[in-house]
Amino acid sequence: MDAPVIDLLQLYPRDMNIYGDWGNVLVLRKRLALRGYDVRLHEYNPGDTFPGQVDLIVGGGGQDSGQNKIQADLLAQGGRLRDLADDGLPMLAVCGLYQLFGHRFTTHTGEVITGIGLLDVETVGGPTRLIGNTVLDSDEFGTIIGYENHSGLTTLGAEVQPFGRVTKGDGNNGTDGTEGARYRNVIATYLHGSLLPKNPAVADFLIRHAAERRYGSFNDVPLDIPHESEARTDAAARPR
Ligand code: GLN
Repeated sequence: MDAPVIDLLQLYPRDMNIYGDWGNVLVLRKRLALRGYDVRLHEYNPGDTFPGQVDLIVGGGGQDSGQNKIQADLLAQGGRLRDLADDGLPMLAVCGLYQLFGHRFTTHTGEVITGIGLLDVETVGGPTRLIGNTVLDSDEFGTIIGYENHSGLTTLGAEVQPFGRVTKGDGNNGTDGTEGARYRNVIATYLHGSLLPKNPAVADFLIRHAAERRYGSFNDVPLDIPHESEARTDAAARPR
């Protein structure tokens, strides 16, 4: 029998892919392959044709200029992405894409970059950058470890939950203790690092929902990868 296939879509790798965010794709591919899935990787850049079959979507961070470059295309794809999110498709949106999954990002110069409103969040450019190693606490995923570098300050609305609560770092806005946003199977976060090599529980959440949505079940072979636990221990011990 042929191996089951998972179609993994990376959104805007050309313009939105900084601070190691590509590593998230590598981890998803590897952890899927180790469980017997064939992974078909699709890269989607502005103007491309959106693939017919997609099981999992990831997208990374970008400078304000990168966000400007993708804005029109993202708005054109907004309805499709909102429908997929409502239907339970798992997604990971990091930093610059997280901001544009919200209602809008008003930059520090007052320019408004309209988002797709997939997430009930809003971002305003702040006067300084929030930079450094970050640790979160989450009921669902336990301790989450990453690295943040953003000036946008994000406020969560009533339709989303935080991804985690900050125990080290600034998170969404440096004031309310929240980091990132959750809606259905969508995870949005400021954490780069990249995120998934140090947080296999988050990677497996995305993989599980991708497989279950497509096939009705997930081949849940436990994976013990020493590099991941070493990276976690090392990153968690680092000063801010
Ligand atoms: N331009 C955005 C900000 O600084 C996003 C940066 C990023 O993706 N790291 O808030």
